[in-house]
Amino acid sequence: MTEVEKRQDRSPVPTGWTYAPAPESTDVVKLRERYGLYIGGEWLTAKEHFTTISPRDESPLAEVGQASVADVESAVAAAREAFESWSTLAGSERAKYMFRIARILAERSREFAVLESLNGGKPIKESRDVDLPLAAAHFFYYAGWADKLEYAFPNRRPRPLGVAGQIIPWNFPLLMLSWKIAPALAAGNTVVLKPAETTPLTALLFCDVLRQAELPAGVVNIVTGDGRTGAALVDSGVDKIAFTGSTEVGKAIQRHIAGTGKRLTLELGGKAANIVFDDCAIDQTIEGIVNGIYFNQGHVCCAGSRLLVQESIYEPVVDKLKRRMATLRVGDPLDKNTDVGAINSKVQLERIEELVEAGKNEGAELFQTPCQLPEKGYWFAPTVFTNVAQSYRIAQEEIFGPVLSVLTFRTPEEAVEKANNTPYGLSAGVWTEKGSRILWMAERLRAGVIWANTFNRFDPASPFGGYKESGFGREGGLHGLEPYLAFDTETFGG
Ligand code: NDP
Repeated sequence: MTEVEKRQDRSPVPTGWTYAPAPESTDVVKLRERYGLYIGGEWLTAKEHFTTISPRDESPLAEVGQASVADVESAVAAAREAFESWSTLAGSERAKYMFRIARILAERSREFAVLESLNGGKPIKESRDVDLPLAAAHFFYYAGWADKLEYAFPNRRPRPLGVAGQIIPWNFPLLMLSWKIAPALAAGNTVVLKPAETTPLTALLFCDVLRQAELPAGVVNIVTGDGRTGAALVDSGVDKIAFTGSTEVGKAIQRHIAGTGKRLTLELGGKAANIVFDDCAIDQTIEGIVNGIYFNQGHVCCAGSRLLVQESIYEPVVDKLKRRMATLRVGDPLDKNTDVGAINSKVQLERIEELVEAGKNEGAELFQTPCQLPEKGYWFAPTVFTNVAQSYRIAQEEIFGPVLSVLTFRTPEEAVEKANNTPYGLSAGVWTEKGSRILWMAERLRAGVIWANTFNRFDPASPFGGYKESGFGREGGLHGLEPYLAFDTETFGG
């Protein structure tokens, strides 16, 4: 503890805490120098490779294969071949493999958590306490449905679609993989998955888990590469595309596969409103605001990036928020004390810097966590903008970084109007003591997920997905199985 500040009639508080470094050891992770493509249960060598780095210090971690169009076609062919036996295997047998995968993920969670933080930049306490438990929980949850599909969809005769092509982003690499693969396998489909270019390593380590679980060859195939590999997967002979990423690429995919008969689900961007009423429990709300925007450096599609505060409590909320921000520890993702880690890539850092510059130029007022950013790597201090007008880019566009824009409202009607005034509709938060007000707001907010007196809470049993430009289709829960199934309703009971 450093100095103590005397605060008039209140008790003195420390002005800063010093923490001894508590780095997580990286010994548990054994990286190969070079990774191939995981196709048909084998490691195949790609013709080209690229280097994947750690955003915390830009150090190279491994060489990763760039899958070509031909590689993607081989992966789809392997998945097609495996589909025949996987789709006819009893659901209870499919479940056994999935339970095994869940258990192995839990057993090897430390190794995965360290690798996730190394390759992606997120704080180890998040990968350890959020990403890994949730990834294992998804396999556990969907394993439970594998032999109960007839009960889940009574009188609809569910059957698998075939081969699912899945494209995932870099913000929750292993968790997004689980969100995609678990329901697909439970429903009897086989999979070709492409991880994001900047974060392929946990998906590649996951292939090791598949082998350990003795999953039949070809049921899951992993092809690494950049956007060209993603585009090749969209173009290939898959029966379904499941995409999570930017609205721009999502729209391009939708245009591309229109008329092909391929199924599509899109989980795209967001600009969530976190709405604070004057009867909220203010200290808990501050924690919720901080968690809503600075969790995972704000690289969260459902991040509470627009704070709507009722005018009567604007000052105490902003004051307490700044005080709380001043205590956030920014730094090495592998340090267990770190609250805010590294920005995932140089490209993303530049995008954040550009939008923050736009916010300043448009006239918003900026406050940042006072901190010393490391010299190497990609870093951005937690930032809040006040004096923001609705028309500013920082109030309209997805920043996907640790940047919060604060706006105000007077009445619940105005809060709804402002919250819905964006092309997105993924999530929202409401902070109030009144249950009736929560329900009133939830009926009117155009968002797929609405949290009340909490934020960024996930559960495999709960569906997640968007309205408007945030996409369509749901992941999680019973709803998350449906996009991986076809129904023979027409042959059943007229
Ligand atoms: P992208 O949408 O480009 O990336 C998502 C995934 O799609 C990645 O695997 C990417 O591959 C792949 N991809 C890229 N181009 C194509 C294509 N033409 N066809 C098929 N797949 C493709 O997001 P970015 O990483 O470029 O991030 C840009 C912005 O998108 C962010 O600033 C953020 O605002 C938003 N975003 C939203 C996410 C969400 O969860 N809603 C997640 C990630 C980003 P590769 O990584 O190799 O380029």
